[in-house]
Amino acid sequence: MPPPFLLTRPFVPPLGWIAARYIAQNRLRLLPSARPLDPAHRACLSGFFNHDLLDRVRVMQGPIPRPPLHSLALILGLEDLPDMSTAGAITFVELVVYPDDLSVATLFHELVHVAQYDALGLMHFARLYVRGYLESGSYEGIPLERQAYNLEARFTREPDATFSVEAEVDHWREHRRY
Ligand SMILES: [Zn+2]
Repeated sequence: MPPPFLLTRPFVPPLGWIAARYIAQNRLRLLPSARPLDPAHRACLSGFFNHDLLDRVRVMQGPIPRPPLHSLALILGLEDLPDMSTAGAITFVELVVYPDDLSVATLFHELVHVAQYDALGLMHFARLYVRGYLESGSYEGIPLERQAYNLEARFTREPDATFSVEAEVDHWREHRRY
């Protein structure tokens, strides 16, 4: 069930800024400890993402930092905000942080987010993510997540049927599906 109207639109700009700062600060803090993609992962994904993106991506194993947004959302009464600290992975622009194992399906999902960051820019990505959550009332309802899950499922079903994730992202952006 979506949150009450008064908890939606007016909160998007301030929560968007808080989310963008969380992403930017953690990216800067953690990038020095990260490494490039493993060659095996890169080979699996090279038919889906452009080489520039695959070269820039960094990965690291570590706990997912708890977003400050979480405490603020609790104050606002959004008690069912997804607890990101238990997620399978999180992506800060081009940096993927994962607490346990990184499956190729999860990595694919996170790289869809990298392509979304590339297309939208950090600030706009953060704003659309927050707006998607506030409007849909659930993590699964966020359009940026819906696309990442859809493309991940398509990849898992047919890992040899390559397609361009960047083209899919451009298509969604042009048709304002975020
Ligand atoms: Zn995701």
